[in-house]
Amino acid sequence: MSLKHAVIRTADFFLPRLCAGCDRKLLPHYNIICPECSNSLALMHPSVLKTYYEELFSDWYCREFFSLYLFTDDSPVRNIIHKLKYSGQRNTGPWLGSLLKKRIAEISPDFKADIIVPTPIHNVKKIERGYNQSMEIARAFTERGDVLVSDDLIKKLRQTESQTHKNFEERRKNIRNTFGITKRGLELIPDKNILIVDDVITTGATTRELISVLSEAGAASVSVATVAVTE
Ligand SMILES: [Zn+2]
Repeated sequence: MSLKHAVIRTADFFLPRLCAGCDRKLLPHYNIICPECSNSLALMHPSVLKTYYEELFSDWYCREFFSLYLFTDDSPVRNIIHKLKYSGQRNTGPWLGSLLKKRIAEISPDFKADIIVPTPIHNVKKIERGYNQSMEIARAFTERGDVLVSDDLIKKLRQTESQTHKNFEERRKNIRNTFGITKRGLELIPDKNILIVDDVITTGATTRELISVLSEAGAASVSVATVAVTE
């Protein structure tokens, strides 16, 4: 047994680590999720991804769209994202981010972004949660020094009401003028290839607004990568 595993095993004795997918006790040599959950996480097929791209973003200035999973009731992905957003399990973020990064390299080997922009959340929410979950996912993209990951280029200016019970037009109005580019953003965004990183995309309204704002600020291109899309 390696020293690392010995340390994890001792720590697990006092405070067992649980699988973020099914809440069962995690063995020392597993990270974040158990092998059963890992096996049941089906990566989204590129053809399904293309359908979502066409449905959500084809009329917008979105160059490429990436997503790992479908967000369904019976998939462990629901619990994993829940852990990241509502249970303070921050380390699931960079783990999901590294999977997303790997998937992008598989699907689109020539893809390159200059700046990674995590979908902003309002400051009040950030204080409540302690972090922006999309920033935690985006952190995985900083491994290579040539990519800037920044959450201070664009700000969420106001809290938006829940989109769930709104029709398309109401959703559009609800989300408009939600984001503002910061001074630093105005300096850095022009002529850059931007990748928006998000946890889950549902209606896509927020992401479309972000694409518009970044394009208006002079981005050379805007692409989107999300851990999951709702069915
Ligand atoms: Zn599990």
